Amino acid sequence: MGFFGRQKKRPASEPTLPPSMAEFMKAASYEIDGLIAQDPDWYAKLPYGGAMSREEAREFEIEKRALWRRIIAEAFAHRELKGLRWITRGDDLVCPECRLWDGHLFSRDNLPELTALCMHLGCRCELKPER
Ligand SMILES: [Zn+2]
Ligand SMILES: [Zn+2]
Repeated sequence: MGFFGRQKKRPASEPTLPPSMAEFMKAASYEIDGLIAQDPDWYAKLPYGGAMSREEAREFEIEKRALWRRIIAEAFAHRELKGLRWITRGDDLVCPECRLWDGHLFSRDNLPELTALCMHLGCRCELKPER
């Protein structure tokens, strides 16, 4: 190294990077596997299915969950956002629980409430960022 050796030291104030998609996927797989473990009939109850195998459905649920969680995490970071609006598919397969949330705007202050909600397996709802 010698004289020109670079000493790179991270300043303590360096902002932490947002979680990567891989990290969201990992966290989501724990969450989904927990839900699957609680309900032996989960696969039969899915509102989609048919073409999907059990393992494919599990992967699909994990991906959806990771995206859901990432959208909430990004909303926390974007101060210009008004909040996130819960949107259902609006069809007959929407469960009563999700129907209650349909169109509801979670303001920035209410994002912790949204984070705490654990949507069920097979939920096809979306969160739309609102400015
Ligand atoms: Zn639902
Ligand atoms: Zn739903």
